Amino acid sequence: MTTISGKTSLVALLGQPTNHSLSPIIQNAAIQEMKLDWSYMALSCSQENLETVLKGLSAINCKGLNITIPHKEHVVQFCSSLSPLAKRLRAVNTLLPDGQGGWKGFNTDVEGFINPLISMSLKKKQALVIGNGGSAKAVIEGLKRLGFAKVTIVGRSQDKINDFLNEHKIANEGLKPTIEIEGITDKNSLLTNKIQQSELIVNTSPIGMKRKEIETKNQFPLGKSIWNNLDSSKILYDLIYIPKPTAWLDLGSKKSCKTIDGLEMLIHQGAASLKLWSNCKRMPIKAMRISAENYLSD
Ligand code: NAP
Repeated sequence: MTTISGKTSLVALLGQPTNHSLSPIIQNAAIQEMKLDWSYMALSCSQENLETVLKGLSAINCKGLNITIPHKEHVVQFCSSLSPLAKRLRAVNTLLPDGQGGWKGFNTDVEGFINPLISMSLKKKQALVIGNGGSAKAVIEGLKRLGFAKVTIVGRSQDKINDFLNEHKIANEGLKPTIEIEGITDKNSLLTNKIQQSELIVNTSPIGMKRKEIETKNQFPLGKSIWNNLDSSKILYDLIYIPKPTAWLDLGSKKSCKTIDGLEMLIHQGAASLKLWSNCKRMPIKAMRISAENYLSD
């Protein structure tokens, strides 16, 4: 590990909780590889203290911040400016000092999500997205950029689905519609058909995430039985990266589906943040991946 001296600068993650985050592992591996005199810390911060903490970190010349659950949307109001994407999604995961004591907001989750899919030919295909929270917004934007023709959002509450669809409509007002978007609840009788029609299925719900060893058993988004007839043409993409693989992706692999976990998204959104903070062009993706895999295998 690089020696922390009196000249070392701080970069950090703000969220609550942050103790299970892999970001310090991958960012410090990259920082070391790039020979930057920085150190990346995960700082747990409540919503009520967020504004004060942001002002304090700016005052001590913090070089950059990642923002995670539950602050990605709340932090928008404290940004002095927003990138066009962050403005449209109303969600920020990266902050860059604006040179005047404030922070400029960016969203690199879309770039991270797209990365493992970019080399596949997915134009005009159909997708199904499970969950209608913050990361689902970045996923829909990513599907648009990849040229998908249609996406079905599956949520637990019709009211929340309607809010999500309305927000999407407002955010895209004035833009040429490139993707057809619909929402159904997880009780809808069309769900099995929608799964069959979709080439790509993305889990953005936390179902299957490792909390306690006992809880990880038999944790399948939408329940286990709905996946009985999965065929090998499907791509299953789980935003979760602990456990690796999740029970859902493990089942997908056994049925010969292509499976993608959340680690590449984490690495590529983190690399895009580091690029903004450091202004360097080439990111040490390999070192970031190795550090994460070593950490997860311990
Ligand atoms: P979020 O805003 O809280 O959204 C979670 C969504 O999942 C909501 O639609 C929620 O439904 C649904 N959900 C929650 N518990 C559920 C349950 N028991 N059954 C069915 N649906 C449930 O969270 P987020 O920011 O989107 O993050 C979601 C997941 O993605 C987390 O596991 C996070 O770690 C992961 N993630 C990974 C990356 C990466 O880089 N790999 C990046 C971002 C997020 P309701 O609306 O009904 O509550």
